[in-house]
Amino acid sequence: MKYDAIVIGCGMSGILAGIHLKNAGKKFIILEKAETLGGTWRDNTYPGLTCDVPSHAYTYSFEPNPEWSRVLPPGAEIQQYFESVFEKYGLAESVRFNSEIRSAQWLGDAWQLTDQQGQCYEGVSVVAATGVLHHPNYPQIKGLEQFEGQTIHSARFDHSVPLDGKRVAVVGNGSTGVQIVSALAARSKVRHFQRTPQWIFPVENPLFSEEQRAEFRSNRDLLVYLQREPTYLANVERFTEGVLDPDSEQIQEIQTLCQANLDNTVSDPALRQKLQPNYRAGCKRLIYSPDYYRAIQHPDAQLISEGIAQVEKSGIRTSDGALHELDVIVLATGFKTDRYVRPMQVTGLYGKTLEQAWSDVPTAYKSISVPDFPNFYFMNGPTSPVGNFSLIDTSEMQWGYIWQLIERVQQQGIAGLSAKAQALARYDAERLSAAKTSVFGSGCNSWYLDKNGVPNTWPWSQSRFRQEMQTPQWQDYTVHALENVAA
Ligand code: NAP
Repeated sequence: MKYDAIVIGCGMSGILAGIHLKNAGKKFIILEKAETLGGTWRDNTYPGLTCDVPSHAYTYSFEPNPEWSRVLPPGAEIQQYFESVFEKYGLAESVRFNSEIRSAQWLGDAWQLTDQQGQCYEGVSVVAATGVLHHPNYPQIKGLEQFEGQTIHSARFDHSVPLDGKRVAVVGNGSTGVQIVSALAARSKVRHFQRTPQWIFPVENPLFSEEQRAEFRSNRDLLVYLQREPTYLANVERFTEGVLDPDSEQIQEIQTLCQANLDNTVSDPALRQKLQPNYRAGCKRLIYSPDYYRAIQHPDAQLISEGIAQVEKSGIRTSDGALHELDVIVLATGFKTDRYVRPMQVTGLYGKTLEQAWSDVPTAYKSISVPDFPNFYFMNGPTSPVGNFSLIDTSEMQWGYIWQLIERVQQQGIAGLSAKAQALARYDAERLSAAKTSVFGSGCNSWYLDKNGVPNTWPWSQSRFRQEMQTPQWQDYTVHALENVAA
């Protein structure tokens, strides 16, 4: 069978694509390498896992959820949300789990995908919804394998490992490390290994009362309003507008709020000094936390800012010579964010591979299409917007754009569409020039940066992205005709 579209990945974006393809009556399949759905929300189960985007904004626009327990949703509830949406839209009949796509080959009028068991699937379009925060980053720390306690990566949390009362190192202080420390400070003897201080934006995370949830259930207009709540949207717009200029009023305002949070919440000057960042707020993804500063001041918690020299059998030795004896090491060291669909072998026109196309760094025209890879579209792929806002919203914008490409191929009876090389070059030149002087490129290390140290993210405002995703600029696409396409 030849599908109209094949979706790779059954996380947030893949489910979204599946629902729309199903509603449009298309022949499609979702191929997922794991045994169940959920993507990053399936893989991440660490203590304290919370989304720092307001819960009502972190839903599909067509599927508001009255049941969120609190303002910032716990990870387990998000996973439940995706499971319930998946079920409601009857996607089980259109998904194949345990199917890891190893290769994708353009045949001239369709893609052939092959999974780890050699099973082949053919589809006119491919939607790569494989996520960005997916491949755990295991740090190269000398002696790590010698540790005789338990070592856990945050994205592969092993809940059978006892933590209560134990000496637990948390390495890394991104959004993940901060949430784990906040959750463990009262349970374990936490040693938080910080390489670079973070700016921490103060937020509150109250529970919704039963009365509030009853109102959400009975008042859909309210729920829809909360999904696109004006203050939240204005803040997203304000921040993303400020991103272009590290000295912008918006960035300064955020930094002032973060600085006051640090100054007013941490009483010990020596600890405050250790926690003081020396780069612009917003350069790394901002940490939103209601309780980290309180947690790190817990009598059983300790912030360790000396560098890690090596790991030994019994713990971590820091560069000042001290040995920190431990029972558990939690690596909250993030993800390899330049992988996208790889290690899948993707071969487009003229035998060109994605590896070749991305031999310098991964990129895609307006985050969607790569020249010579007809009908192969990315969701949350290279150069896609990332930040402290809902990636569901981003995926919905991208889907609206991708859908127009899929439809045009079918309606015009052509083999395919892919971005022109000149269009990508023009887009990249403009993007790189903006990114280099944006706050993301203002002098810090972060997962936003590519191997050349340049931000690989959308460097402009969210409204500009919304605008760009409205309609494809058709002149920027090569039309691949059915009769003379060379595979
Ligand atoms: P991350 O932001 O990439 O942070 C990794 C941390 O590990 C950094 O503190 C880094 O230090 C440290 N690190 C890496 N290698 C190290 C080494 N060899 N030695 C010592 N420290 C090392 O990863 P993350 O915290 O998992 O977050 C990734 C992204 O996931 C976030 O930015 C966010 O987009 C998403 N996330 C979102 C939420 C949410 O609430 N929505 C929650 C969790 C995660 P340096 O800073 O010095 O590099």
